[in-house]
Amino acid sequence: MLEQAHALAAELRAAGIRVKLDDRDHVRPGAKFFEWELKGAPIRVELGERELARGEVSVARRDREPRELVFLDRLAERLQAMLGEIHQELFDRAAAHLADNTRSFDDRTELVEYLKAGSGFAVAAWCGSPACEAAIKAETSATLRCLALEPEDPGAPCPVCGRPGVETATWGQAY
Ligand SMILES: [Zn+2]
Repeated sequence: MLEQAHALAAELRAAGIRVKLDDRDHVRPGAKFFEWELKGAPIRVELGERELARGEVSVARRDREPRELVFLDRLAERLQAMLGEIHQELFDRAAAHLADNTRSFDDRTELVEYLKAGSGFAVAAWCGSPACEAAIKAETSATLRCLALEPEDPGAPCPVCGRPGVETATWGQAY
């Protein structure tokens, strides 16, 4: 069994997949599962005698039930597909979260209230003046997090001074 596990790990590594073989025999399977879940391993492959005899292993996604049985000769391909799906889902969730928590402002009072509430990112035009940046920071304790590579709405007025904006600034609270 251990030999097969090492061979399988080598095969998966050759396919470009990072593999950690947990061959500790003094640790129960449940404890191993828990430990690797805590560490964030996205996929767990379990080897069992009966399944191996059928040429199968059991594959569990950290973020999803239930486990699935995968034929050994399809394992690398299946894991690569799964890792791609996991990556895409995490990215989509993060992008949706960011979009849900970002609002645009042109009014100073609304911008300040929103930033004081600390409920997300605020996007607003900025004239580029350090004085306007300092004013918002003093009032809200939020800081400039990033500037758009290209202003979204060139010339839109800076909500602090009313002069034409040269940047599209994203504000947020630091934690
Ligand atoms: Zn300004």
